[in-house]
Amino acid sequence: TPPPGPEGAASEPRPVPGACFSRVRPTPLQQPRLVALSEPALALLGLGAPPADDASREAREAEAALFFSGNALLPGAEPAAHCYCGHQFGHFAGQLGDGAAMYLGEVCTAAGERWELQLKGTGPTPFSRQADGRKVLRSSIREFLCSEAMFHLGVPTTRAGACVTSQSTVVRDVFYDGNPKREPCAVVLRIAPTFLRFGSFEIFKSTDERTGHAGPSVGRNDIRIQMLDYVIGTFYPEIQAAHASDSVQRNAAFFREVTRRTARTVAEWQCVGFCHGVLNTDNMSVVGLTIDYGPFGFLDRYDPDHVCNASDNAGRYAYSKQPEVCKWNLQKLAEALEPELPLELAEAILAENYDAEFRRHYLHKMRRKLGLIQAACEEDAALVAQLLETMQQTGADFTNTFYLLSSFPVGPEPPDLADFLTALTAQCASLEELRLAFRPQMDPRQLSMMLMLAQSNPQLFALIGTQANITKELERVEQQSRLEQLSPAELLSRNRGHWADWLQEYRARLEKDRKGASDAAAWQAERVRVMHASNPKYILRNYIAQNAIEAAENGDFSEVRRVLKLLEAPYCMVGETAEALEAAEPEGTGGAAGRRRSYSSKPPLWAAELCVT
Ligand code: AMP
Ligand code: MG
Ligand code: MG
Repeated sequence: TPPPGPEGAASEPRPVPGACFSRVRPTPLQQPRLVALSEPALALLGLGAPPADDASREAREAEAALFFSGNALLPGAEPAAHCYCGHQFGHFAGQLGDGAAMYLGEVCTAAGERWELQLKGTGPTPFSRQADGRKVLRSSIREFLCSEAMFHLGVPTTRAGACVTSQSTVVRDVFYDGNPKREPCAVVLRIAPTFLRFGSFEIFKSTDERTGHAGPSVGRNDIRIQMLDYVIGTFYPEIQAAHASDSVQRNAAFFREVTRRTARTVAEWQCVGFCHGVLNTDNMSVVGLTIDYGPFGFLDRYDPDHVCNASDNAGRYAYSKQPEVCKWNLQKLAEALEPELPLELAEAILAENYDAEFRRHYLHKMRRKLGLIQAACEEDAALVAQLLETMQQTGADFTNTFYLLSSFPVGPEPPDLADFLTALTAQCASLEELRLAFRPQMDPRQLSMMLMLAQSNPQLFALIGTQANITKELERVEQQSRLEQLSPAELLSRNRGHWADWLQEYRARLEKDRKGASDAAAWQAERVRVMHASNPKYILRNYIAQNAIEAAENGDFSEVRRVLKLLEAPYCMVGETAEALEAAEPEGTGGAAGRRRSYSSKPPLWAAELCVT
């Protein structure tokens, strides 16, 4: 579609058939101000290191605020918004994106890489529907920090180069004391080889029986072929070269590779306890990256049913569901590629590759997390499953438990585990935390009324999906009464017992590994090295992000910048950096006075109430 005229007419929301993108113009923000830059991300674009003196640094920040807010256009930029569709929470929603992000173009580097630049939050596009195309500061800081955190954790992801705030404000669905709250508008500069998604191919979908929605470009095989040619030729050049004369084989190889990459990326998420939160098909990258950081969350207390998105009532995107839901999404991609790739062939590829690749990669990573570096054992999958069960039973902190295991005493003699068990159980949930986590959410009278209704009309209940909520509530009530009968000392001894049991299995497995090594000392050193490189000490916990957000909302960006630096070395490979940062932590800055802890502690009680949408 043509570029917008002076009135911006082309940016008016509308259905856009027969196009994958529309030219747009960013809408300027009032007084943009830089929150933070990610130097490693900007280095990808060849934007050099920051100058040392304050005056030049300030000038650089002002320039970054101008260009990365969209208020000024980078030379050569040709902004465009991408039209995509998607299955949201299991239902086809028709044309839904991209109403909030704009491409600027690509940077091609001397090394032959190409990086697409995107600004998210730069105002309305033809795809904004009823919304304003803006993003608020809190969600922008979360996306900015988590994109970079995931990269440094080694998880395939889109990157973030800058976060800019402004004096422009919008109202979102957050109310304090019943009053609407105006929040500052912000923009994130995103960087990736491509932002194309599964949903990019769903614009060709015919009318969905259940929802009645259709893709705006239904019937346009010509565009689908163009898009496939572009994606495969640009991002999968080896596949293009290997199957240049057979497009079905080429498309099959492409789908196989997307399947494998997706399976590996999800396995990576499971291994760092990352919950995406909105695994709709429009948030699935065609090159296997983690894309779109909204209500994401990292596991604190290990809970496979953890749902990080407060609007995901049915728990469709719970932590433990992520692998199967991504497979479901791949099925939708397969359907969107028809007839360029016959559906039967695609389904066979999915069946053959997805589960196997996920299991292989997951177990490979988990072995490294446990420091099992010699030959694989059959029973390793069971050992991992038992570990997770023990974590769940004891309410252990996922990240800190793995981190602690690297100091598990090994050697031919049975070790004295007293100190180790004390450290381990300190990472488990206290009675107070458990009571908070399992507090019933319904009034008891409401619950008994629901139970009566459920008994008298089970079909209706199943239909409105309330049954699952009641079951969960009953579990909470039962859990609560169990917790009431427990003393802190009993909880501790129970937790020690669970852990002692698992550690016995772990020790036996480690001994097998040790005996298989020719040099026991070298084995131990290598094992600890691998574990330290696989078990992060620092992740972007909600409470850490929240403290940084509150300070930034009060005009202090230092905490965002400090947290960014910390997350650049999550594995403590350069250990001192992280420790020095913690030691240099100033007391009570920003809005989080008295609430901050060491960045590697499990979350404080107040954080249990944090709710992200
Ligand atoms: P998400 O659920 O974050 O993946 O968003 C899906 C789509 O919703 C985006 O691609 C946008 O098209 C649209 N969207 C989200 N936020 C906004 C906004 N503030 N203004 C316009 N469109 C939005
Ligand atoms: Mg999205
Ligand atoms: Mg989003």
